[in-house]
Amino acid sequence: MEILSKRKIKVYKVLLAIIVAAIIITLLLALNGVFGPKFPLDGSIRLVQAGRGLNQYEIKAVFDPDSKTLTCYQSVLYKNTSDDLLTHIYFHLYPNAFQYEDKAVFEKSDMNRAYPNGFSPGFLDFSIVRINGEEADYVLGGYSDDILMLLLEDDLAPDEELNIEMEYTVLLPDSMGRFGYGENMYKVVNWYPIACVYDEDGWNLDPYYAIGDPFYSDVANYKVSVKAPEDYVLATSGEVKSKKKKGEEIIWQIHAPAVRDFAWLASNTFKTASRKVGKTLVSSYFYTTEAGERALDYAAASLAYFNNVFGEYPYSNYAVVESDLYIGGMEYPNLIMLDHGLYQKSNIGYLELVTVHETAHQWWYGLVGNNQITDAWMDEGLTEYSTVLYYGNRYGEKKEQDIYQNIIGEGKYNILSSYWSLGILDETIHRPIYEFVDWTFYDMLVYGKGAMLFHSLREEMGDEKFFQGLQKYYRDNQFQNARKSDLIHAFDQVTGLDWQKSFNRWLYDKR
Ligand SMILES: [Zn+2]
Repeated sequence: MEILSKRKIKVYKVLLAIIVAAIIITLLLALNGVFGPKFPLDGSIRLVQAGRGLNQYEIKAVFDPDSKTLTCYQSVLYKNTSDDLLTHIYFHLYPNAFQYEDKAVFEKSDMNRAYPNGFSPGFLDFSIVRINGEEADYVLGGYSDDILMLLLEDDLAPDEELNIEMEYTVLLPDSMGRFGYGENMYKVVNWYPIACVYDEDGWNLDPYYAIGDPFYSDVANYKVSVKAPEDYVLATSGEVKSKKKKGEEIIWQIHAPAVRDFAWLASNTFKTASRKVGKTLVSSYFYTTEAGERALDYAAASLAYFNNVFGEYPYSNYAVVESDLYIGGMEYPNLIMLDHGLYQKSNIGYLELVTVHETAHQWWYGLVGNNQITDAWMDEGLTEYSTVLYYGNRYGEKKEQDIYQNIIGEGKYNILSSYWSLGILDETIHRPIYEFVDWTFYDMLVYGKGAMLFHSLREEMGDEKFFQGLQKYYRDNQFQNARKSDLIHAFDQVTGLDWQKSFNRWLYDKR
């Protein structure tokens, strides 16, 4: 420590001001030079720029809680961003995955928890589909009629656009899974036709698997209006632009630029609490008062920390919502669902853990996307390890070690020994979600061993390079879908070393 006299302090203050100003100017110039227009400083400008040339979704939904239905009109301005001629366009119809009990999206052992009041179907029913104003030919296919195939009259060339209009109704199931409703609220997630991803492997037409978060989508711009009874409060992706009263209903106008999905939740019993973190308004929606404030605190603290260490969250809103859910938590752009059970006093520790995990997903899934069917470790492993980092930052090294060794990372992986006795010995992390025998096995490998991969990288390269690598990965891949090679590339670039072998050892070693 050095104690300075008052005069010296004055001189130092002036010098310090000059140095700080010089550093800021240099940084601003460097940021503009290095990142160019792709990474300007203001979140809203980043969203506008990221939104250029993306698909545009416009959805008008009428929500009727009595009949548990949504009546929807949707238009999609679809652009062929690939280098290939497209002869068809495909959409996921996730609600249809909830149609048949014998094809349910839950593991058999979870059916009672998913449907506490018995099986309840959900689906999406089209009345009309038009392409550029003309009635279109379409076919429903996939495992449970959950894929819509549009036959194009003329091939769609690279960079060409067409306008797809759909009118449909959605029935929400009585379910404690992601999609549906419970006693306290409605979960309108994975609810509308969303374009399948066309990438270097062609069309991705995966069904709604029972294990993992079986979703893969491109970032798009959304304008959504929801007409709901006036006593309902909505938590949504994006930002509510206006609420207009019409009779006994309210029309909510919501804009969500540059997001990879659009979700909303509704309840007539939600209470709310909000806090500003940087440019983002963090809001907690809850029906269990004290814990709702806690969830807000955990979400705000983790958002602030991740803003700092990964790069700024560009969106104006982030909603954390107590939900009738049995699966812990689930992430959507600008919105997370948290299991009602976590809000009970005895589970507050887990409320923090899950809130932080889902908040980390805002970066790893939301902003930097990946194929969650084939490369689930990329978002889940990194999200788990981001949660470990949060504990270290907020509570110190001892707590971080405790979480890593007993709950996340090694904590999860160590449970694997029970599977060895069953003769299940293949520990390969990098494989499609449908190749894991069950959720627990998936959890121990993709989440547990996945987090260990990132822990070992950090140990090997040191904190400085590790965080630089994550920042570069975020900066270079935000608003896109990343591949394994993009992640490795970020660490290679910041260290000047080749990390492929380290990654592959963790991802492909059977033991
Ligand atoms: Zn997760």
